[in-house]
Amino acid sequence: MIAKSNDPGTRLNTDRMQHPSGHVNAPISDSAMFAFSTGAEMTEMFEVGIAGRFLYSRHANPSCAALAAKLAAMEATEAAIVIASGMSAIACAILQVCSAGDHIIASRTVYGGTYALLENFLPRFGITTSFIDINDQTALNDAMQPNTKMLFAETMSNPLLAVCDIPNLSAFAHSNGLTLMIDNTFAPLICSPAMHGADIVIHSLTKYINGMGDHLGGVICGTENLIQSLMDVNSGATMLLGPSMDAGVAADIRKNLQSLPVRVRQHSANALKVGSRLQASGFRVVYPGLESHPDHLRLQTLSNEGYGAGAVLTLDCGTRERADSLMQHLKDAGLGFLAVSLGYVHTLFSMPACSTSSEIPAAERERMGLSEGFVRFSIGIDADGDWLASEIAAIATKVLL
Ligand code: PLP
Repeated sequence: MIAKSNDPGTRLNTDRMQHPSGHVNAPISDSAMFAFSTGAEMTEMFEVGIAGRFLYSRHANPSCAALAAKLAAMEATEAAIVIASGMSAIACAILQVCSAGDHIIASRTVYGGTYALLENFLPRFGITTSFIDINDQTALNDAMQPNTKMLFAETMSNPLLAVCDIPNLSAFAHSNGLTLMIDNTFAPLICSPAMHGADIVIHSLTKYINGMGDHLGGVICGTENLIQSLMDVNSGATMLLGPSMDAGVAADIRKNLQSLPVRVRQHSANALKVGSRLQASGFRVVYPGLESHPDHLRLQTLSNEGYGAGAVLTLDCGTRERADSLMQHLKDAGLGFLAVSLGYVHTLFSMPACSTSSEIPAAERERMGLSEGFVRFSIGIDADGDWLASEIAAIATKVLL
């Protein structure tokens, strides 16, 4: 009954039943390999698999499988596999779907590491990418090639928070025989891309999903066939490239995941207060929770009720020097960390043009509208939102006006 809930936060808790041994948190399976009773059993496991059994933790591990099951339930996909980082999730999913000679159409406004993978690394293996404004239908039509295999976008782009039109991308992908892959790192619980037609949903678990700033992790959510193909001992990208998640890390992330609904609601509530206050003080704020954001309405139509618009907002400080000065003052006032990443308990701030988007060439950043004077905030949940909003706005007013 729980698994069918429309609320992704409720779907997360499909494993609320008490463990037979009485543990409320499942024991950690710290085994690299798993033993068999007979040679015949081992052969059967290698040849066809045995339900509920494991052979080697690079292939699958009970703690990792338990975390993956929760994330598949959250994203409403048939299955999922957890992996060492968000980048390895993106790379393995692409390499499983695409081969040499294939082409990808990607949003121009992707995370810098993803941009570098698509633009610099994958062409060495014969996989090329066209970067476009993913919500521009003409650009989509024009980018199609006979060898196009995949469409790739982030639910909310980094750092401009453009919201992609997933139903439209899904219709386009499926009428052209393409796979639609969505990076939902910026919008866990807020949006369920598979329910709008995405075929593959990936996350960097390093961000909100773990939320504690201590582990790297990633997940690929998709059909049972896709996940089995990734694990295939002869041809699976996760099995053969080997970016496995450690069982202890999986157990930690699984525990932290239980508070994700509460954390996302609080991040969004605090960020909305900070964004509204900064905007009211006369600053140019980019936050899809605000009516001033061009994709505010699109986010509302795509989002699940009650989770808001997330922690991330961007403030245009005009120049790099002013952005630097603001961050220094915020840091000195103890309001957060001058650090990349997002979805952490504490507030984080960074300049995307010089950090998480620095892999994107300056001309491309200009086309995206990403100025050097932008400061990206990930608003934390460690303080009262009204207090945080008035403190940040007071410092911004002193430094920037
Ligand atoms: N996707 C997005 C949207 C990101 O912001 C990041 C990292 O910042 C990644 C993927 C990569 O994740 P990881 O750092 O866990 O490899």
